[in-house]
Amino acid sequence: MSLEIIIPSQRVQQIKPSPTLSINAKAKALKASGADILNFSVGEPDFDTPKHILEAGKAAIDAVFTRYTAVPGILELREAIAKRFSQERGWQYDPDQIQVSCGGKHGLYNMIQALFNPGDEVLIPTPYWVSYPPMVQLAGATPVPVPLAEKNDFDLDPAILDQLITDKTRGIILNSPSNPTGSIFSAGTLEAIGEMALKKGWAVITDDVYDTIVYEKGPIPHILDVDPKLKEQTIVLNAVSKSFAMTGWRIGYSAGPKHIIKAMNKIQSQSTSNPSSIAQKAALAAISGPWDFSVAMTESFLPRRDYIIEELQTNPNITCVTPRGAFYVFPNFSAYYGKSFNGKPINNSVEMSDYLLDEALLATVPGAAFGADEFIRFSFAASMDAIKEGMKRLKEALNSLS
Ligand code: GLU
Repeated sequence: MSLEIIIPSQRVQQIKPSPTLSINAKAKALKASGADILNFSVGEPDFDTPKHILEAGKAAIDAVFTRYTAVPGILELREAIAKRFSQERGWQYDPDQIQVSCGGKHGLYNMIQALFNPGDEVLIPTPYWVSYPPMVQLAGATPVPVPLAEKNDFDLDPAILDQLITDKTRGIILNSPSNPTGSIFSAGTLEAIGEMALKKGWAVITDDVYDTIVYEKGPIPHILDVDPKLKEQTIVLNAVSKSFAMTGWRIGYSAGPKHIIKAMNKIQSQSTSNPSSIAQKAALAAISGPWDFSVAMTESFLPRRDYIIEELQTNPNITCVTPRGAFYVFPNFSAYYGKSFNGKPINNSVEMSDYLLDEALLATVPGAAFGADEFIRFSFAASMDAIKEGMKRLKEALNSLS
């Protein structure tokens, strides 16, 4: 037993480890020990990184491209990112308005540290991705959940947002398509948020990591399309992780006002120095195109989504909004809370998720991790066979509750 003479800071004591990552680790360990686990927990494409990207990574090693790079990332990569934004969305950014980070998550961490002070309040549409509130707390600021209603397809109601604004509100974190709901904010909602942000001078963080995984045609509404003036107070976050099945490479990118990117670079220079030189070369190959892999991957997710939704709809006790993007379904299981298995009650999403793991060998993420206890998240970035077997097991497990 170790003597705990030194203890972790109060800052870190307020937060918990990432639930998505810890459940994934638990599912993988159980699988490694021989259990027939179906893993619908962590959000990660079940595809391999495309070959031309792997080759670019190998070429970087062969060329001994292994030294420190510029703090915000290599210029060619920032230029390629700027080109992507310009060609796809018509947003003009100079390379010094772009930072490459060690994954989208780290870009988010950098920007939250760069933007918020202790005491600031940051609005977070809820259900939210698990890491937003802890990152805001680590900056000493206060996360303020803005409830999104399932009956409203998890779109944001500006009237509710209005009620939560105080004189300490300094920013908002948008995520559309959303993890965990797969919902997309409507143009009208973004317009209302944009107007408030302009009036109040908020920082707007827009986490767009699922922007290529969309199940409908045409570009989805974006806060930057509301008013060009918003570009001065918006930071766009993205990553190659989801679009190119590159989760382990850890490359994310952010674009925003020059002075904010400069502040984020200061943090990066004092923490990670730069993202991996090799992974940056691979990301350069990814972002420079072709993007057909990304399109084909999204097309392959669609029948999986449809299957899982159809299966869930056969159960009158479950409601589920059809995701329009990302690769998660977020069904409402609350009708089962209060039931029990072999005398053991299930009263919340954590107990339901534990039950599904123990009795059906299904790894899922409880809605509580996303600030929404009525729900359970299933990633459908899994094979169709796994999804079919998973839905069968789910049905049996739910039928066993009384
Ligand atoms: N964003 C993914 C998820 O929600 C990856 C894991 C994580 O970083 O939370 O499952």
